[in-house]
Amino acid sequence: APLLRLEGVTKVFGGATTALDGMSLAVRDGEFLSLLGPSGCGKSTALRLIAGLSQPTRGRIRWREGAEAALGVVFQEPTLAPWSTVFDNVWLPLRLRGVGRGVARAQVEESLASVGLEGFAKAYPRELSGGMKMRVSIARAMVTRPKLLLMDEPFAALDEITRFKLNDDVLALQARLGCTVVFVTHSVFESVFLSGRVVVMAARPGRVVEEIAVEAPARRD
Ligand code: ADP
Ligand code: ADP
Repeated sequence: APLLRLEGVTKVFGGATTALDGMSLAVRDGEFLSLLGPSGCGKSTALRLIAGLSQPTRGRIRWREGAEAALGVVFQEPTLAPWSTVFDNVWLPLRLRGVGRGVARAQVEESLASVGLEGFAKAYPRELSGGMKMRVSIARAMVTRPKLLLMDEPFAALDEITRFKLNDDVLALQARLGCTVVFVTHSVFESVFLSGRVVVMAARPGRVVEEIAVEAPARRD
């Protein structure tokens, strides 16, 4: 069975804006899937529904038994706590699960290393570049070893060179950890470079218009 399935999911805001209209989609284990489409086509809405941050107006999202517990989310804004060190920011999801600092240390350090930030545990977010803040944000999302990583235009605010570097790093991370990724982007290049499957969406109302398998990815394998 797929990891999760959207079944005819419709989201209407304020009884007026149909952000998503009957979206159906199966997300398979271990795949890198991107949602590609212009601004306003409902990509973020779909991701927020998958994350459980909002509820469908109609239709439903079905998770394979037990799978929904393991979820990491990365947004465009790194949303780091400015008064906390890099270590404490990455520790947070474990801390919320009752894992103390000492016990969490190895996991936090491993997660930082996996995004190339070994040695930055004591730094504060303001000391870091935009790309590095995004890396911290990814380390924080990965520290609990989620089965599914949701990314909402994570690199859109970064310069192109940093973005290419992060694209490579996210692929390497996914290959190593074997997690499933759903990646929202409006960049055709990014979606084709990163994913094995591109789900193309259109706006007004937001819907899926095509699914494209990327046969010869420019990446991995
Ligand atoms: P995308 O991520 O593809 O840019 P969104 O999912 O953010 O698209 O938005 C889809 C549509 O739903 C847009 O018309 C947007 O303005 C609208 N929308 C999104 N969130 C809300 C909300 N909380 N309240 C009202 N309208 C919303
Ligand atoms: P994105 O950058 O992903 O397209 P937006 O900047 O459109 O997202 O939206 C950011 C936040 O504002 C989201 O939480 C979204 O749900 C909300 N939002 C978007 N459009 C509207 C809207 N028309 N009315 C109210 N809230 C909205």
